[in-house]
Amino acid sequence: MLNKEMLSIKIESLSHSYQQGTPFEQTALQNITFTIEPGMFLGIAGRSGSGKTTLLQHLNGLLKPTSGRITINGSTVDARRMRDLRRQIGLVFQHPEHQLFEETVFKDISFGLTGTGLNAAAVGDRVRESLAVVGLSEDILERSPFELSGGEKRRVAIAGVLVMNPTVLVLDEPAAGLDPGGRREILDFISKLRSERNITVVLATHDMAEMARFADRMVVLNNGSIALNGSTREIFRDVEALENAGLEPPQITRLMLKLKKVLPEANDGILTVEEAIVELKRLYCEGWRWGDYDKRFADGPLSARQFDAA
Ligand code: ADP
Ligand code: MG
Repeated sequence: MLNKEMLSIKIESLSHSYQQGTPFEQTALQNITFTIEPGMFLGIAGRSGSGKTTLLQHLNGLLKPTSGRITINGSTVDARRMRDLRRQIGLVFQHPEHQLFEETVFKDISFGLTGTGLNAAAVGDRVRESLAVVGLSEDILERSPFELSGGEKRRVAIAGVLVMNPTVLVLDEPAAGLDPGGRREILDFISKLRSERNITVVLATHDMAEMARFADRMVVLNNGSIALNGSTREIFRDVEALENAGLEPPQITRLMLKLKKVLPEANDGILTVEEAIVELKRLYCEGWRWGDYDKRFADGPLSARQFDAA
């Protein structure tokens, strides 16, 4: 049995081709190497078709590497070990609501606990606990999953993975296709879950604002290869590299990079509006204190023209 608290997952020179050996062979991943450390919030970024889903499906054994390997705490994952690992590495599929199939929400959420030997009371406790994490009330339990709203369905599907108490939660575009309120709710409870339970989170998205807000580190995929791998702040400093991978930093990050061109003392690597507000206040107060901006921008405060030219 693996230690439940600490899974260090190493992906080593992993490549994957679909329909290998047929005329339809398609290489989806090429020579992927990176490590997922315990407790990390790792973002897998990349435009559509870059290989995110293919990569995530290797993490719990749904797909097997065509070459290369995955090791967990130093040992290669074989079929025997996979059963055990599936309980610890929970994968929430892209559009998980399509996987709801039971008559009631309760049955859907508890499905994964079948055959685990837990008694009915313990199963009920686990289901209610997971339901609370995703912010749904208990009166939903006896309803049919098919009657729920899009956001509710998705939360039920996520609860069905959380019920297994995974130590690593892998999410494939969990907020895609939801309205802004639904997106925020999903991402907020994922980050809350992570801080409360100290689990590892691997989140794939093509939404860079989500990435900036939540991920500590990022792996950026482009055409099945790793284009960038590093801390989120470092990666968002390099607009050109991101653009080469078909992605753009969030608008606020781009705005603050532009500001830095006219005010070199401005910090770059600003990831959220909240960080930008703190930084703008700091710049404003310091500029005012030094009486410096008047001299540098002789035709008045930073003009629209200067900013446009940056
Ligand atoms: P992403 O999740 O980043 O959109 P995917 O992993 O879904 O990327 O796809 C990566 C590449 O693999 C794409 O070129 C896609 O067309 C191809 N692909 C994905 N699934 C299959 C499949 N089942 N059979 C053949 N090719 C596939
Ligand atoms: Mg995908």
